[in-house]
Amino acid sequence: MADVKLTHVKKIYSNKVEVLKDINLDIKQGEFIVFVGPSGCGKSTLLRMISGLEEITSGTLEIDGQVVNDVPPALRGIAMVFQSYALYPHMSVYDNMAFSLQIAKLSKEDIDQQVRKAADLLQLTPYLDRLPKALSGGQRQRVAIGRAIVRRPKVFLFDEPLSNLDAALRVATRMEIANLKESMPDSTMIYVTHDQVEAMTLADRIVLLSGGDVEQVGPPLDLYEHP
Ligand code: ADP
Ligand code: ADP
Repeated sequence: MADVKLTHVKKIYSNKVEVLKDINLDIKQGEFIVFVGPSGCGKSTLLRMISGLEEITSGTLEIDGQVVNDVPPALRGIAMVFQSYALYPHMSVYDNMAFSLQIAKLSKEDIDQQVRKAADLLQLTPYLDRLPKALSGGQRQRVAIGRAIVRRPKVFLFDEPLSNLDAALRVATRMEIANLKESMPDSTMIYVTHDQVEAMTLADRIVLLSGGDVEQVGPPLDLYEHP
């Protein structure tokens, strides 16, 4: 539920390589934005800077009109889903999704309501008592998404969430993410992939990164029909 604005954002790692030169982007609340571009062009770097996991060398990042360059990740209202699921192996699906809410000291009733709502949305209700090792890769990735949803983030970040899945699960999980977009129309979603089909099916707008800059930005058909 937030606008995300990047102004003259630059990233230079400690080895002095300028990975991102001058990124300017205005992402509106509720938009589904997909970053595409060749491997190594800085997609993950950009996502990690938005999340706060990576420092911005210069330029500003605003969320809802507030400059958040120095705001710690946990206070940005952002949830991130990575390509590896990073679930807690000794906790059930339910507990994996409930954990951050327990830390935030929500009441048992509120936690239960949030977890069951997310499970329902992601078709995980039959698996709530299972441990992650008893799930398929696609189910695990849905749990990881569920863990993000229950915190009701303003912004969702996805870093190649389907790339560890086999082809069939990739399609099914992609459809879950499309459902997520439909059922959470106010949430801003920023998604990194190198898969053109994912970009085409999910994006409101695609951002093509190349050579450290935004090369093109627009709706999928504009990008892929007039390359
Ligand atoms: P992409 O996600 O588009 O594949 P990345 O953002 O992962 O690109 O990486 C962009 C470039 O920055 C690559 O050349 C990569 O090697 C380099 N890079 C990424 N992380 C670091 C780091 N922590 N230190 C130095 N260079 C890095
Ligand atoms: P991705 O699959 O997102 O492109 P990579 O496999 O390139 O990610 O990088 C994995 C991790 O290694 C990241 O945390 C990134 O910051 C780090 N990394 C990537 N390239 C470099 C580099 N040249 N020097 C130092 N760390 C790097």
